[in-house]
Amino acid sequence: MVDKHQTTKTISLKKYGINNATVYYQLPSEELHNETLQKGQGKEASSGALAVNTGEFTGRSPQDRFIVRDEVTEDRVWWGNINIPFDSDKFDALYDRVTAYLSENEVYVRDSYACAHEDYRLNIRVINEYPWSNMFAHNMFLRPTEDELENFDPEWLIVNAPGFMADSERDGTRQHNFAILNFGKKIALIGGTGYTGEIKKGIFSALNFILPVFKNTLPMHCSANVGEDGETAIFFGLSGTGKTTLSADPERKLIGDDEHGWTANNEVFNFEGGCYAKVIDLSPKKEPDIFKAIKPGAILENVAMDSEGHVDFKDTSITQNTRVSYPIYHIDNIQQPSIGQNPKNIFFLTADAFGVLPPISKLTPGQAAYHFISGYTAKVAGTEAGIDEPLPSFSACFGAPFMPLHPTKYAEMLSAKMKTSGVNVWLVNTGWTGGPYGTGRRMKLKYTRAMITAALKGQLKDVDYEMHPIFGLDMPKECPNVPSEVLNPRETWEDKEAYDAKAEALAKSFKKNFEKFESYANKEILSGAPIKG
Ligand code: ATP
Ligand code: MN
Repeated sequence: MVDKHQTTKTISLKKYGINNATVYYQLPSEELHNETLQKGQGKEASSGALAVNTGEFTGRSPQDRFIVRDEVTEDRVWWGNINIPFDSDKFDALYDRVTAYLSENEVYVRDSYACAHEDYRLNIRVINEYPWSNMFAHNMFLRPTEDELENFDPEWLIVNAPGFMADSERDGTRQHNFAILNFGKKIALIGGTGYTGEIKKGIFSALNFILPVFKNTLPMHCSANVGEDGETAIFFGLSGTGKTTLSADPERKLIGDDEHGWTANNEVFNFEGGCYAKVIDLSPKKEPDIFKAIKPGAILENVAMDSEGHVDFKDTSITQNTRVSYPIYHIDNIQQPSIGQNPKNIFFLTADAFGVLPPISKLTPGQAAYHFISGYTAKVAGTEAGIDEPLPSFSACFGAPFMPLHPTKYAEMLSAKMKTSGVNVWLVNTGWTGGPYGTGRRMKLKYTRAMITAALKGQLKDVDYEMHPIFGLDMPKECPNVPSEVLNPRETWEDKEAYDAKAEALAKSFKKNFEKFESYANKEILSGAPIKG
């Protein structure tokens, strides 16, 4: 039989317990694209991008993310409902079942690495059941050169079998899908879900343990870019707050859109080699860089397309969480390698659907630590009729689901770095203005971009500030290219009393959420709490 692929090299997976599989090793992106089409697992969009459906899961499943409790993790991990322990023997048994499932089949193997800084580089071998998942790994992880592949020594292994369904009773999982990290064996085992985000966030979670514990480096759920002055800006924020959108700035070089490390030498490096952008309501006018990145090599997930392959970015019939992954070089203005020096500005992005928080405010060190540990954003209840009340959502370090250690470990590292590097910290509300969700509207992207640009250019240094009466935040009274009346949220509401009531209610939620951290927090951090409510 003639091999349909051009690749000359293949590898044996026997040592992983995968026998007699047809192994496609390191297929180029185009071949994975074609393979996906041939298998009927995807379609080609008119842009030339591959479009796939990830199946039952169109988002991560935090309740099915486990960590094997072993010698490495036992005393270090912050166990609970975020870091759910998994029995080591059960892991071994499940691993054997998954690898037996992959045996005798076609599998796609990719050698790649995480961490753009060579001192931190983590080599990864990814074994996928599906070609498009392997293409995702190509897009999102860093790509070794031909030379580096010659003697590639994988440290971590990802085994990804979306078609394998666990039996919860037998396997010790919650249900049929699972994403399990095993630090002792350095394996991420993912099954029962085709959502590709589990692959990237699995390695992110692993690095969030490895880097602070062994490498004195702070891992961060943030995007980063660098200006012509060589100064790095960092954007922390939970999902949907604008990390990817706001870091794609034509005037600044992109370092990365989601996961970074901050070293003891004050360097910021990307963990990844690609971006994973939301495409809901994507407009070529407002987000030209992301729009242009959707071309051959990119993978669209869960979008609706017509028979000619035109994507309707407004269509949410499959999910709100429509996505595209692409290698970082699909963006024009990038920093190479993905490392920045001298972080000078940190933005905490929040999408406050109550319309309470100011669109931009400057934080004291105490407020910075307080807001970092709080990790506030709001969840919009959704599009169901009658539900228009947003819900406050707190996720420590702006990424609790990915943080195996206690949140204060990361907060302490960040505070120490802020002090030594003299960095400015800003809280930016990319959410609602003029009222809460339902009454108000989302802050214009154009204004948010202008506020960030002004902060980065030092244009907010010499303007007058006023203090938010409930949150105690310092709000600039002027900002270039932004109408002054949007800068004070209270002024944007018609009903001022309603504003005050909402602001107090939100301040109360902050305080309630913080109760569990109070015993860990010093006076400075506690001074960052809302002053009323
Ligand atoms: P994830 O962690 O899930 O990748 P993210 O923080 O990268 O999330 P984005 O993908 O940037 O979030 O999503 C922000 C969304 O909000 C985009 O769809 C963007 O178009 C929209 N948006 C609307 N108004 C604004 C604004 N003022 N600032 C930022 N984003 C905005
Ligand atoms: Mn993002």
